[in-house]
Amino acid sequence: MTYTVQKLVSNEIFTLISFDIICTLLENDSVIYNDYYENLNYDCDVCEGTGEIWEVDIDGEEGEMCCDECDGEGVINHEPLEFWLVTPWLGRRLKSNGGFVFKLSNLTIWGREASGQAIKLDYIMEQIAKGN
Ligand SMILES: [Zn+2]
Repeated sequence: MTYTVQKLVSNEIFTLISFDIICTLLENDSVIYNDYYENLNYDCDVCEGTGEIWEVDIDGEEGEMCCDECDGEGVINHEPLEFWLVTPWLGRRLKSNGGFVFKLSNLTIWGREASGQAIKLDYIMEQIAKGN
């Protein structure tokens, strides 16, 4: 299925959910808590989750350098700035495009890692609209 970004946003995203509601649910529901934190972490694209530190030669001196993405830890946290209730279909597309998605009971929540611009301008939405 291919979509215009505008149609994708209007058909597949329902509503913004407040941070307070998410925080309250995380504090009180261990199933939601576990799903949230399992999905919050992901392997770094650069060191592929190994977190290996490699050595580089800087101006003839041996130096150590770790992966810029994760500082050599191998794992990165998503940084959600907004939470949106989305369709299960969009949730799957977001997840496979590297987005942060988790479940509130049987609802699909997208933790959007951007704020202050129209959702249709988000890179991940462009990618999904293209069929990725
Ligand atoms: Zn890394």
